[in-house]
Amino acid sequence: MTIATANRALAGVHVLVVEDDGPIGEQLVRGLSRAGCRVDLVGSAAAALSHLDAELILLDLGLPDGDGIELCERLRTVTSAPILVVTARDTEQERVTALDAGADDYLAKPFGFAELLARMRAALRRVRADDARAVVRHGPLTVDLGAQRVAVDGTEVSLTAKEFDILTCLAAEPGRLVTREEIFDRAWDAHWYGPTKVLDVHIAALRRKLGDASLIETVYGRGFRLRQL
Ligand code: CA
Repeated sequence: MTIATANRALAGVHVLVVEDDGPIGEQLVRGLSRAGCRVDLVGSAAAALSHLDAELILLDLGLPDGDGIELCERLRTVTSAPILVVTARDTEQERVTALDAGADDYLAKPFGFAELLARMRAALRRVRADDARAVVRHGPLTVDLGAQRVAVDGTEVSLTAKEFDILTCLAAEPGRLVTREEIFDRAWDAHWYGPTKVLDVHIAALRRKLGDASLIETVYGRGFRLRQL
């Protein structure tokens, strides 16, 4: 596997870096951005808890406003994003404590950037494998992400791959507005430079196939959401 192929797994992934050491934080942001990640950098536990939409968290344990282990435990209760603890404290007991606090992996400073990226990819692979086994049920709708099957009231509905990907974006969190940009990011491999009307065409087809047009609500000019039931 080439590095370019390997890093495709990280492209567009939203990473939260919790690191109070300025230069180290900046270096991580630069490296991760180069690997294609979207990166938020915060320097305190309090700030970390207000950035919960990240898909992966790199957590330094020595923070100015609290113990990183406690923060790790709190993060674990509010997000399912993988947490990679990155720290200078490197004893077996420290690693055990971090893993028991809900960290997915542990990396001792100083570490090589290639290893960090590899561990991030591994953590994301595990999450995605879990996701692939997931089945989302919402009212009459069943979306089986692993088998890539959709049923309405128990009757299978045949969707195109694109329709399935779009529905998956919406079904991840019924009731939440999913912006058009988000859908393009996730359901189209690369950035889409064509007419965005193509999305409306797919949504119209999806509504028709699902049989209940009101199941997918339009938030005009912004995006779509699955109707809260
Ligand atoms: Ca620190």
